[in-house]
Amino acid sequence: MNISDSERIASFLENAGFSLANNVEDANLAIFNTCGIKQTAENRAYSMINNLRKEKKQDVKIIMTGCLANRADVQKRMKNKVDLFFPIKDIKDFENWIIENCLEIENCKLEIPGQKNISSNQENINYLSITPKNLSRYQAYVPIMTGCNNFCSYCVVPHARGREVSRPANEIILEIRNLISQGYKQITLLGQNVNSYKSKVHKVSKSIKSEDEIDFAKLLTEINKIPGNFWIHFVSSHPKDMSDSLIETVTKLKKVCEWIHLPVQAGNDEVLRRMNRKYTSKHYLGRLKKIKKEFKKNKLDCLYAISSDIIVGFPGETRAQFADSEKIMQKSKFDMVFFGQFSPRPGTVAWKMKDNVSQKEKARRENVLNEILKKTSLANNKKYLGKKIEVLIEKEKNGNFFGKTRTMRNIKITTTKKDLIGKIIKAKVTKAETWNLEGVL
Ligand code: SF4
Repeated sequence: MNISDSERIASFLENAGFSLANNVEDANLAIFNTCGIKQTAENRAYSMINNLRKEKKQDVKIIMTGCLANRADVQKRMKNKVDLFFPIKDIKDFENWIIENCLEIENCKLEIPGQKNISSNQENINYLSITPKNLSRYQAYVPIMTGCNNFCSYCVVPHARGREVSRPANEIILEIRNLISQGYKQITLLGQNVNSYKSKVHKVSKSIKSEDEIDFAKLLTEINKIPGNFWIHFVSSHPKDMSDSLIETVTKLKKVCEWIHLPVQAGNDEVLRRMNRKYTSKHYLGRLKKIKKEFKKNKLDCLYAISSDIIVGFPGETRAQFADSEKIMQKSKFDMVFFGQFSPRPGTVAWKMKDNVSQKEKARRENVLNEILKKTSLANNKKYLGKKIEVLIEKEKNGNFFGKTRTMRNIKITTTKKDLIGKIIKAKVTKAETWNLEGVL
């Protein structure tokens, strides 16, 4: 989501007369789009800002945005290093905000083509409607909503980004149509909880009347109808909102890829309750069973992938409770898991809980789960051997091509062919390792 926000900020700044510096040390204006999900991400932002001030300049103007920008303790800590703090929850007002505030920046040239006096442009423009400056020529992130209403007890997102707001479906579809016409091959729909997407009054096709409500399943169905050979991915889903009908739709649509990221966070029901996740481990496993059943039914011989997020060392998590995370990993047979060692985030409910699992024990628990993941990932990868699968080529190195499968597995391709970057090809898988596949064209 931060990458996507940054692409829109970059696009706006270019239109406003800025040009991209070759590196951050050459910049007059540096915007740090920070992540506050873990302490390590936070520390990285501080060190980058401190280094920029120290190494180069006192004269560079530094704006901090992202999840850290509206925290009082961060503003106090960084007040001598950062010129302006822009809370991410106000990002919809970014255009007006930056125009007003950048005028205070010395030598800051702000000219929007076609607008004589930009400071008088006070209209509240939704930042999501800004055409982004996509970093890639064939993969694009498309935000469909922002914010979250769930308030998981460890999570900073609802505090930083505010409540859930869905983007109008017609705007999303128009953006994707434009991307596909420019040759984009992989569209990743973004939202903190895409399953709860809802857009009301926007007509998107003949089959949908303007007064109809468009939910996530309908949105996917409409995007799937856009002509062209492209892949649709989406992140993130919430197990409590992954309904039977949504699973049935997702697993049927041809352009929607066979990869679902479904964060479980913990295997123990008491820990899940204190995390405020609003489901049990039984419910979660039931969702996986349904997903697997529908993939098998709808996409014959289909290779599908399930990934997840798990937090280790949540306050009060005992060894016995952690053992339930081990069990759910064994049962789920994940292809990938993003582990997080719990770190308290200011403003959240868990901030006030006693962080009583030591760093050493958190690292041990992560290691235990990672060992399970290595086994399930390798076993899943072996299912690809001998199969012909679609691959989107991302780069070339030392005569080999590297890309991703529809299920987001890394694959190295050996071929004598040239000019494959950005193309979807069909390759035969010849080797399967824990994290990577190899194949030939
Ligand atoms: S659903 Fe995701 S974004 Fe929302 S509060 Fe929970 S963890 Fe955070």
